Amino acid sequence: MFKSILTGTVNCLILFMLVGIAGKTNASPIDNPRADEIYQLFDSGDFLPEERVNELLTEYKNSLAIDDSIRQQLFIRLSCWNLPAETPEQLKAAVAYADEYLRIYSKPSPSLIQIDLQFCKAWNLHFLNKNKELFDDLNTAIDNAYLLEDPRLIADGRSIRGTILSYMGNFSAALEDLITAQNLYETLNLPYWANVNLGELANSYRRFGDAKNALKYQLKLEQYYLQHKQPYAATQANIDIAYSLEELGQYQEAIKRFQTSHAFWLKENEPIAAANLLVHIGGNLIKLQRLAEAQKQLEQAAKHITSNNDGSYGYLNLYLADTHYQQGNNELALAYAQKALDAFTENDNTRGLNQALMITSKIYGSLAQWDNAYQSLLSYIDSHLELDKQTMSDRNTEMQTRFNTDKIQSENEWLVQRDKDKEQQLQILQRNEQMQIIIIILVAIILVIVSVFAYKQLMRKKQFKLLALTDELTKLSNRRDTYAQGQHFLKAAQQSAKPFSIISFDADHFKKVNDTLGHEIGDKVLVKLASICSSMMRETDVVGRVGGEEFLVLLPNIDKTKAIEIANRLIDTIANYDWSQLSPHLEQTISAGVASYSNETELSPLLLKADKALYSAKAAGRNCVKAE
Ligand code: GH3
Ligand code: MG
Ligand code: MG
Repeated sequence: MFKSILTGTVNCLILFMLVGIAGKTNASPIDNPRADEIYQLFDSGDFLPEERVNELLTEYKNSLAIDDSIRQQLFIRLSCWNLPAETPEQLKAAVAYADEYLRIYSKPSPSLIQIDLQFCKAWNLHFLNKNKELFDDLNTAIDNAYLLEDPRLIADGRSIRGTILSYMGNFSAALEDLITAQNLYETLNLPYWANVNLGELANSYRRFGDAKNALKYQLKLEQYYLQHKQPYAATQANIDIAYSLEELGQYQEAIKRFQTSHAFWLKENEPIAAANLLVHIGGNLIKLQRLAEAQKQLEQAAKHITSNNDGSYGYLNLYLADTHYQQGNNELALAYAQKALDAFTENDNTRGLNQALMITSKIYGSLAQWDNAYQSLLSYIDSHLELDKQTMSDRNTEMQTRFNTDKIQSENEWLVQRDKDKEQQLQILQRNEQMQIIIIILVAIILVIVSVFAYKQLMRKKQFKLLALTDELTKLSNRRDTYAQGQHFLKAAQQSAKPFSIISFDADHFKKVNDTLGHEIGDKVLVKLASICSSMMRETDVVGRVGGEEFLVLLPNIDKTKAIEIANRLIDTIANYDWSQLSPHLEQTISAGVASYSNETELSPLLLKADKALYSAKAAGRNCVKAE
């Protein structure tokens, strides 16, 4: 019984403990596998149509618990990166979105969400051609990513900055950023982002004049994307390959590739992306002297490309200027050349600017405006020198950067290790918290067990004590207890000078009962004698079984006369009892001896007196009372 109660209690506590721990691990972080799946889908990289993006973002948001602040922030970051960003209005709206949440999440600083929103903002500003404005915030955000030692954000930041720097022609800084990002993405095992970054590295090599190397990377990337069924990324790789082919003078092949991508974007209903490719097809046709075809393509592109489009607008006008110049339409050519100059100046595109200055000078020459032609040529030389100087310094830095890659790699490995360490520390902290709960519960269990044992022990002791003082058959006080209480009453009588009497009684001819009716009936007679006697005495009196069929009654505050009276009543009641209930024809009497306290200091002389009286009663024929 005890064991089952104890097992039950322990089971209950263990169950409670497990539920407690399970509840704890569930609470932080909150489980939401579907949201994580959607996040992975976005982070895995390949293009999702706008409708699907919105669907998934809505599903993500609706699945979040109110107190899941971590995923609430991830939702804002995802949203920023997935806002439509085609038209200038959309780009501005994306910047405004980032700004709004940067204000909301301004504290604490720095934070992951802040850094990512800064990246998102910078990326959109880049497509708005606000390259110069974005660098302060972008640099700070990257510094903060280092402060927080978050390798993923460092990789993202440096990849973004490298891409923008490469676009602006600052190759040395671009390469350092892109190589760092490349190492990090590879160490973090993020193949999609490693490939995107590798594409940018290849672009930088191409812009830097190393189209052969660029092509090598780009062909590998295209293969990868085709194998992994990522058509959008494969298209971007195809376009990059076309640029490199153009750079290497393989115009016909470049045109073919631009045409494939043009068809792809038309099919995808992306007319601006498609028109950008027409511009490049036009540029290559000019190189092949197919001027009429080139003009047709460029005019088709012009329907979709406005001055707000990045890069392409400058090249569209540059190529239009070239075709018109080569076909002798100098006035028109000059107007286009001017637009190209403005666009390239605005975009900080030195390479484009160079080409535009050269064509401008040629057009002026054709128009016999020698002074203007000379001025343009001078600007061209200045700009070219500037470009050469930059290229020289870029080459030096590039060498240095290549030598630095080992250092970058070891720094990156350190960062990733730190990130892992931090995660481990967090896990240890969480585990410690669970351990504390387990310890508290175990201590509680031990306390319960100990108290149950202690209680049980106490009860057992009480029971032993009771057993030690009780006669098992009659449940009366046993001889030892009766004598001890008798001694106690004697002392009390001594101190209070009040009377105290005892009755010693013994069943008559009891041996005969046993012999004729059996021991069992004998036992029943003893039990009955005990109960009759007990029922006749007061609460304060004590009835004890002091021998086989001998009993002793202790009567505090009762004098001899009264005791004799009680003893007579007792023997009469017993003699008149209907003993045939126990066995037919059974009759049972007792003999009693009464003694009262008179200056005895111990109980035994008093007992002796009572026994003497009892002996007299027996001698007098039994079923009577004698007193001493
Ligand atoms: P007397 O009237 O002179 O007292 O005669 P008696 O037979 O009662 O006296 P005796 O001392 O010869 O016998 C006592 C008997 O009581 C002997 C014993 O078998 C019996 N007896 C003692 N204890 C128990 C007991 O616990 N149960 C039963 N059934 N009998 C017991
Ligand atoms: Mg007897
Ligand atoms: Mg006897």
